[in-house]
Amino acid sequence: MTGYSWFADARRVPLEQLAVALGLSVSRRTISPCPACGRRGRDSACRIYRAKDGTPKWKCWHASCDGRGDGIDLARYVISGDLRNWYAERGWCERRAGGGRSELVELPPPPPEPGYVPEDDLRCLLGQCGPGLYEPDVGRWLHYRLGDLAERTGWLVLSLPKNARCPDWARVGRDHNERSWAQGGFRALFPVWNHQGQLRSIRARQVVRAAAKVKCIPPRDHKAGGTVLANPAALAWLRARGTPQRIVVTEGEPQWLAWSVASTGSVAVVGITSGSWTQDFADRVPDGCQVLIATDLDKAGEGYAALVRATLEGRDVNVDRWAQPTQMLGK
Ligand SMILES: [Zn+2]
Repeated sequence: MTGYSWFADARRVPLEQLAVALGLSVSRRTISPCPACGRRGRDSACRIYRAKDGTPKWKCWHASCDGRGDGIDLARYVISGDLRNWYAERGWCERRAGGGRSELVELPPPPPEPGYVPEDDLRCLLGQCGPGLYEPDVGRWLHYRLGDLAERTGWLVLSLPKNARCPDWARVGRDHNERSWAQGGFRALFPVWNHQGQLRSIRARQVVRAAAKVKCIPPRDHKAGGTVLANPAALAWLRARGTPQRIVVTEGEPQWLAWSVASTGSVAVVGITSGSWTQDFADRVPDGCQVLIATDLDKAGEGYAALVRATLEGRDVNVDRWAQPTQMLGK
């Protein structure tokens, strides 16, 4: 026999109503401000959707925001006190197990973590791509970001043709604004790799002027963390086929590209974003290695730097924070 589950009950409260009760605004299923990152109005990428099992969920699609969950998760971002009281005051979830017995609360199993995109899908999408300069729109973006160095990007970045067939997860926008990455201008593709150098996912960068404020996105509804951008030397390192003396940790696609094309072949250059760097990567850094943390000199970049340092704590590794690129490019 199962008892009344407050959690199951609370998860049935419609998210639109819940968000409004929490003082957030909802327009066309977009929550503003995002309770996780605070982006509001047209900048907010925090959307309500229905999970495959029918439960209402929300997720912030901004590339640097991890906000997601069900109604309880949403409420916890806003309400610091007793959630049950707060729900009860609004007439929600008041049913209790009868018979004077203490309430039986069955915790539902946690929702399954989404996995990485299927490898077949990934290879099918990448198989339609050319090298970065192959598509004019992508080439223009590369020249804009890198100047003459764009000529050296080769296959570090892939260009997706306008008419490419994109799987369900390679889409952007919601409802009537939904488009494939190819149609939406997200046509510079960057494969990302796990700590063993295995292809696991991809990041798509917007290369044409468009209304979308989001510049770079991971596959929709799939896991993307624990993966990095990696130049050939970094891939060799992660695959245990090389022992780099220098590893550069960069942030964002343009920076990673710039470091990759400007440094000599022996420097391993990885590019990280939110959720990328894990202890698994740090554990692969060889002893005696010089690690340059070249993430942005802003709050997010300093956060990444602190994380990388923490994962290398106590190791025989020489960690430097930012340097002129020439200092690390080597011979
Ligand atoms: Zn957010």
